[in-house]
Amino acid sequence: PDESTDVLRLENVTKRFGNVTAVDDLSFAVHEQEILGFIGPNGAGKSTTFNCVSGSFPPTEGTIYYRDEDVTGMPQYELVKKGISRTYQTFRPLNDRTVLENIELSQVPDKLFSVSDLRADTTERAWELCERVGLEEYAHLTPEEVPHAGMLRLEIGRALGTDPDLLLVDEPFAGLTSEEIEESASLFRSLREEGTTLVVIDHNMHGLLDLVDRVVVISFGEKIAEGAPQEIRDDPVVQKAYLGG
Ligand code: ADP
Ligand code: MG
Repeated sequence: PDESTDVLRLENVTKRFGNVTAVDDLSFAVHEQEILGFIGPNGAGKSTTFNCVSGSFPPTEGTIYYRDEDVTGMPQYELVKKGISRTYQTFRPLNDRTVLENIELSQVPDKLFSVSDLRADTTERAWELCERVGLEEYAHLTPEEVPHAGMLRLEIGRALGTDPDLLLVDEPFAGLTSEEIEESASLFRSLREEGTTLVVIDHNMHGLLDLVDRVVVISFGEKIAEGAPQEIRDDPVVQKAYLGG
């Protein structure tokens, strides 16, 4: 493949926590305007990989390229400015703000801003995003008043507030009904049509295979398979990893 079309490239990325190797010599690329599924059993190292890419902490070893620039170890706010945004598996909203304010505040790098200081166009944009992720009816409620499916969409709305080129989504389907999964999946497809590149984590491969263009599978921090969804579904190595082999 032509490397110039890679949005993101990990080369031999390893992340250790003491004696635990959470990500082990992992290399893969994310292509322009694709939805890449990033799957593996619980504890495989998926969220840790996102944490390295999004600047929560640097990898212990290896290199991360964003559009051919070495961004290894760059802080999160720099990466957000470059166009990388992510959602968290454990929600991190501001609990004393409304849903709308949470989305609005995600647009400014300095979260210490008071709401009244913000320009009107950030409010307009927050409303657009609220509608985009289907949260209009919850706009004036606080996060605690929002049901689980809405909280997952709030995470996405907050990530979209930074206008990402590359959106990393950590377990967006956890605990959702199949109808709710389809709603989120169609949002991801429409973002892709508008030019966003997405990486979507799921620990359960079947929910994801209908959505994604390509799949990378990891187990115990290592890549064990990569390919088209149909190849992955039938791959005995993947099936073995999921059976606890
Ligand atoms: P996944 O998202 O695939 O379920 P994680 O990336 O969360 O897996 O975790 C991979 C491994 O790294 C696990 O063994 C987990 O306990 C460990 N781990 C993750 N984050 C930390 C951390 N901050 N400190 C120590 N160990 C961690
Ligand atoms: Mg995880």
